Amino acid sequence: MVRDNTNTTGQPPKFKVLTRANIDKSPEWQRLPEEIQESVKTVSAVLPFRVNQYVLDELIDWSNVPDDPMFQLTFPQRGMLSDKHYTTMRRLIREDAEKAEIEEAANRIRLELNPHPAGQMTHNVPTVDGEELPGVQHKYRETTLFFPSSGQTCHAYCTFCFRWAQFVGMNDLKFAAKEASQLRCYLEHHPEVTDVLITGGDPMVMKAKIFAAIVDEIIKVETVRTVRIGTKSVAYWPQRFVTDNDADDILKQFERIIQAGKHVAVMGHYNHPVELSTPVAEECVRRIRSTGANIRMQSPIIRHINDDAGSWAELWRRGTQLGCIPYYMFVERDTGAQRYFELPLVRCWEIFREAYQRVPGTARTVRGPSMSCFPGKCHVLGVTEVGGQKAFMLEYLQARDPSLVRQPFFAKYDPTATWYDDLKPLTKSDEKFFSYPEETPASTVGLTVDRADAYAEKN
Ligand SMILES: *Cc1c(COP(=O)(O)O)cnc(C)c1O
Ligand code: SF4
Repeated sequence: MVRDNTNTTGQPPKFKVLTRANIDKSPEWQRLPEEIQESVKTVSAVLPFRVNQYVLDELIDWSNVPDDPMFQLTFPQRGMLSDKHYTTMRRLIREDAEKAEIEEAANRIRLELNPHPAGQMTHNVPTVDGEELPGVQHKYRETTLFFPSSGQTCHAYCTFCFRWAQFVGMNDLKFAAKEASQLRCYLEHHPEVTDVLITGGDPMVMKAKIFAAIVDEIIKVETVRTVRIGTKSVAYWPQRFVTDNDADDILKQFERIIQAGKHVAVMGHYNHPVELSTPVAEECVRRIRSTGANIRMQSPIIRHINDDAGSWAELWRRGTQLGCIPYYMFVERDTGAQRYFELPLVRCWEIFREAYQRVPGTARTVRGPSMSCFPGKCHVLGVTEVGGQKAFMLEYLQARDPSLVRQPFFAKYDPTATWYDDLKPLTKSDEKFFSYPEETPASTVGLTVDRADAYAEKN
């Protein structure tokens, strides 16, 4: 297939990463007020920070910092740590403490922030012939998640993401091939699985060659109908599909899957309409779609980043215009970042509703707000009154127990509730929707089930 590659100007841009170690060399940094510089340096001693030149140059509006949504999305913020943690860390930095001392304090803080350290698996791990499959999670009957080890980082990091427990990637072709053949084996034993969701980190950080090794295996499985690729690269580094030297090869892999008779669904993680505003972002969508793949858009709703109906309406309108399909609005669970990003469920629903009202039917393919919790994906349908009592009306869009799906149920209204755990059944008949089964079907090694959910929806 011939693809138009003409909108590149001169040399193709090189992917350039900036972190805590080198951000102070960038001209943008020099223009930041000292106070913000200090808070970025302090918080990023504890939480990961990674941004790239494209995000700095094209997505952040520096005249609007610190409120700019893309700045909030990628730069660690003062409010992400408690006062206690923040002042401890700031003191060490001001005193120019030893690296080891800073690291030790950071680790202590991380442990307090992260109530579920990775590696504490208590749930079943999928196995094939007695062998455990790391990097595979199978929670809902039709869909299996695959976390290839070579896709465990991202082109930039989102401040709201819990990720400090993982992101130890490995870029080894042999290993990728082995993982993929184990996945194939699992899928062949599970013909009920029609969808494979390749996720991360971000699987599109993979070189095309490594991705091809995974595709080689998946296309052999006849029962797989759809291959989903969860990725933020379409927003953080759309050059991945346009000017990177293996951009065409990556797209060729999408075509191979399609030629094998399967659908390719790119689950594009777009948080804000500005991510669709650049020529390269548009070209990225155009090139992905030219393979026959679709792009579905999903994002959590996050305070400071996209907690306004206007942003969502524009995201869905603009996405639809480019041929993307609005898919999910997720509610963000506690990220460990000091409630900085949290919104009450009722507010999430109001924003969803207001945005939904403003878009045409073609963009109303979106569902939400939805919480990925233990029993399933819990959809907040709205606030209503039942027998004179104010209540949340809810349903499961996905559930471990498929019989629960699409049955409306109720929880007591609570204007401060931010997550499923805060909700109480309204009546006796609502109780079964809140029960946790003893055993879970399967899970991911190294990730708690809940965390794997979070990654699944973030990518
Ligand atoms: C969201 C999710 C899926 C995919 O669900 P769909 O409704 O098919 O999009 C699969 N597994 C997990 C763990 C998820 O959170
Ligand atoms: S949300 Fe996705 S892209 Fe963002 S840091 Fe987490 S895994 Fe990476």
